Order: sequence, then structure tokens, then C-alpha cells
Amino acid sequence: MFDGFAPAELDATHPTPNFDRLKREGAWSRHLVPAFPALSLINHTTFATGCWPEHHGVVSNTFLDPKHGWFSHATDQDDAIWRTGCETMWEAAERQGIHAAVFNFVDRWRGKKQLASIVNPEVLWKDHEDDETILQRAFKALKDNSPNHPRLITLYFEYPDSVAHGNGVTGPKTQDAVRRADAIVGRLMAALKALPPSREGTLLVGTDHGMKDTTGFINVTRLMNMYDIKATAAVDGASAFLYLDKGESADRVQKALSAYPNAFTVYRTGHYPPFAHLGNSIRVGDLMLVGKPPYRMVDSSALPWYVGWTGGNWLWSPIVNTGPGVVPSTHGYDPAVVDMHGIFYLWGAGVRPGEIKRLDQVDVHPTVMKLLGLQPGRSMDGHAIAAVQ
Ligand SMILES: [Zn+2]
Repeated sequence: MFDGFAPAELDATHPTPNFDRLKREGAWSRHLVPAFPALSLINHTTFATGCWPEHHGVVSNTFLDPKHGWFSHATDQDDAIWRTGCETMWEAAERQGIHAAVFNFVDRWRGKKQLASIVNPEVLWKDHEDDETILQRAFKALKDNSPNHPRLITLYFEYPDSVAHGNGVTGPKTQDAVRRADAIVGRLMAALKALPPSREGTLLVGTDHGMKDTTGFINVTRLMNMYDIKATAAVDGASAFLYLDKGESADRVQKALSAYPNAFTVYRTGHYPPFAHLGNSIRVGDLMLVGKPPYRMVDSSALPWYVGWTGGNWLWSPIVNTGPGVVPSTHGYDPAVVDMHGIFYLWGAGVRPGEIKRLDQVDVHPTVMKLLGLQPGRSMDGHAIAAVQ
């Protein structure tokens, strides 16, 4: 999996011989539709489990859990302890006697227990092993011809997302990151081609979400100050959960915040639109704000310090169209925003080539399990795609 890979990032980049070859010889789609909000962690977990967030419990990159407290993708380990249900593809494979290897992907550990036969160490997101290290680990696992060799190998790479946020969907640096991804794809294809005749392999390349250029932001801290909202906010990308203090009125807050229909929509827990498979747990708060392009949604912690210092959280308009805090691109919108859709490729054994019009993020897990000839995880929500023979 590559993070934050929109088809538009690939369209802008040349040459990409390996992605071109995947498309020529394999099954492909421009519409891998993410779970909402279109953020990383929620979609890593959906990709791995085939479950919607209402079932696996990881509802955003940052959320408040009554038992475990705050979770943040940036500062906590992406441990399976945060998952409330469902099985990852590697847990389902191991349960059926098939060994799996998982490198830098979330949910490979639950506390001190590793969830696949081969995993790399659990560290904070920012301290991940580098690409070359996990590639060498993957090649070693792939070359293992012993009877118990891993038949499922899962890798995670943090770009183009990490580059595109600061450089835009089609920026030169984003294109460099796409070419890096293309080179990795080429090396993985070559490694699969080099397998002995007694073995065959399939390469699946996917992403957690797409990316969209932005030209403004919604300052949630400013909104809360402006309307004297007594609540805690979990804000990321283009959405925010509000956890109201005792005594604060959801009706009042919803009414006050409904004054910005061009910038964002306010939903009450349990009254979400059909695209949100978030359930009703306390993790999603009492109200959810969903930004509309071209705005991203931030709180004061995500803005440069001088925004607060110059009165940004008390004096400025909560809807900002220019100046500090505006970044080139983001994600997290609802899946009707087509730029949130990501790339998807399937190449090699068992694949019927051709275009797949669209698939949901929950369909990846059952597709992988079908390729392996195994049952999918317990209580999963997706369907294996027809391109698997
Ligand atoms: Zn991102």
C-alpha cells in the first residue's frame, strides 16, 4: 500500500513504466473508494480487515475512547489494541495455517503479541523502518522456498501522501515521489517473476485514499470560541468530531454551526449520511463536521503558532481563504468527492486483466483471501472483486 495515491498524481507523472505495465497486463481501477473520513489509519484498518469502521472501531486518525483515552495516529503506535472487532487478512491467513509477513503496516502487533509469523518491530509512525529495509525484508520472505514460507506479504509506504500535502497533487516533488513508487513496483514485479516455476505470485497495489488540492481552511478552534461551544474536538483532514461537555446542548451547537453550508456540514451522531459507516460509538463524538472542498479542517494545533498569536483563533473569520495555514492539498472528504478515490492494481496469477469501474476499500481483504484460496476474516463487510478468477 502506498499512502495518499490519487490517480491524478499518476496522470501528472512521466515516465511510470511499471504502473503502465500493471495497467497493460493486469486489472486496474481509478476508483478504489475509501471509507469515510478519507484518512490514513481508518483506511489502513479497513483495507486490512474488509470491515467498515463501525465494525473495526478505528473511526479516524484521532479520536477519544472512553476506556483507552485519546488515540492519535501521529503520536501513538498503530496497535491492534485500538481495533474493536474484525480480523486483518494476516490474522485470517494465520488462523487457517498460512504464514504471513507484515512490514510497516498497522495492526501487526497487539501489545506485545505479533499478529503474523513475520513482522518488523512496532515503533511510532515517524520512526518506521525505511523503504529499502522493508523491501529487503520482503524479498527475503519471497525467496523463502521452505514448506512454511509466507504466502502473504504486506508492505506500507508513506508517500506520495507525505510529499503531496506540502507540494500539491501534481507538484514536481509529488511527481518524484510517484516515480519512487513506480521503481518499487518494478522491483516487486521482478521479484515475483523470479519465483521458481513451482510457485506463482500476484501483486496488489492499493492506497488508503486520494488527494485534493485545497485553497483554504475552516478553523474549528475559532468556531468553538465564537459560539462558546463547550466541547473537545478531534480534527483531521477535512472532518472533525465534537465531544460535548456535560450540559452542552447538541441542538444549540448544531444550529450555530449550520451557518456555513458552503464550507461544511454538521451531522448528529446516528444521523449520518449513507457514506459514513461510522456507527454510534462514543468514539465518534456527539457531532461531526464534514468540510467541503476547497477547505480543509483544522484546530489551533495544526496552524502555525503565529496564527494564534495574531488573533486567528479569536478575531479572524473561521473560514480562511488565504495566508498562513493554507496548505496545497489534503484528504478526508466524503467519498462523493471523486479525488478521494485511489489507485488500485492487481497483476499476476489468478487475475483477469481489464478495468474495474470501482471497488470499495472493504473489498480488498476478501479479494486477497480469495487469491490465497482462503476464507475471509470473520464478520467482514466486503466482496471479492470479479477480476479474481
Ligand atoms: Zn495525508
